[in-house]
Amino acid sequence: MISIREKTLYIAELDLWIDSMRSRSRSYVSHGHADHARPHDVIVTSPANALICEARFGRKGTRAGSRPQIVWETHAFNEPWFIGEHRLTLFPAGHVLGSAQLLIEGPSGSFVYTGDFKLEQAFTAETTEVKRCDTLLMECTYGRPHFAFPPRAEIAGNMVAFARDTLENGEIPVFFAYSLGKAQEAIAILGNGGIPLTLHQSVFTMSEIYQQCGMPLPPYRKHDEASFDGESALVWPPSAKRLPEHIDGKRIRTASLTGWSIGGGVYRPRKDQAFALSPC
Ligand SMILES: [Zn+2]
Repeated sequence: MISIREKTLYIAELDLWIDSMRSRSRSYVSHGHADHARPHDVIVTSPANALICEARFGRKGTRAGSRPQIVWETHAFNEPWFIGEHRLTLFPAGHVLGSAQLLIEGPSGSFVYTGDFKLEQAFTAETTEVKRCDTLLMECTYGRPHFAFPPRAEIAGNMVAFARDTLENGEIPVFFAYSLGKAQEAIAILGNGGIPLTLHQSVFTMSEIYQQCGMPLPPYRKHDEASFDGESALVWPPSAKRLPEHIDGKRIRTASLTGWSIGGGVYRPRKDQAFALSPC
């Protein structure tokens, strides 16, 4: 059923690409992270992920010569549809909001592509489902055996303690987290732990979409350089412009949220603290 064309998963019978990194006429996009989601003429995905992707790279399509607007073919979780003899179903991957696994059932059997997924319940993603199938293709970012993560509640407690201690010390805690997924987990953990929060613009934009999709988050404010008083924790994407070491005379203390901090050779800590909050 499935083949690899141009280093990309492709289902010829359905003329459907899977998480293609090159623009295609029609591709299924499992979730909004940039190593899976790119613009295509038609994107097959969940409604929540469509909103996320639209905010990240939607085409306006108004200028002469610009590419046409993306057509969003959305399917709610567990509402199958048919293409010829094949039945397709999206179902939750529990990785970030709207992240979808794909089940295809047809004459040659059943197939599941997971994309990034997480079995442990996240604070801000749907509950993962596992479906029976003949062939399973899993994405295993932390597949090597030494990646054994501490319980999420333990990491959450340590994050809140770090933020509280830092604020009580007259310093500013900064949590570096991808603006989609990891940042909302951090917001839920810190906000529910009583930590006031200020968000970078890109984190704010994604968080608003989460709430629009019915995923509640604790209160937060959008960062504004002029009015920021240093009395709250910052949630900041790692790719954003570097922060100064002091803001209004207050030292910043940085924490990264990454599963890579478990070790294994690729992670080089440059922050004061690292929390193995993953895999989302
Ligand atoms: Zn991802």
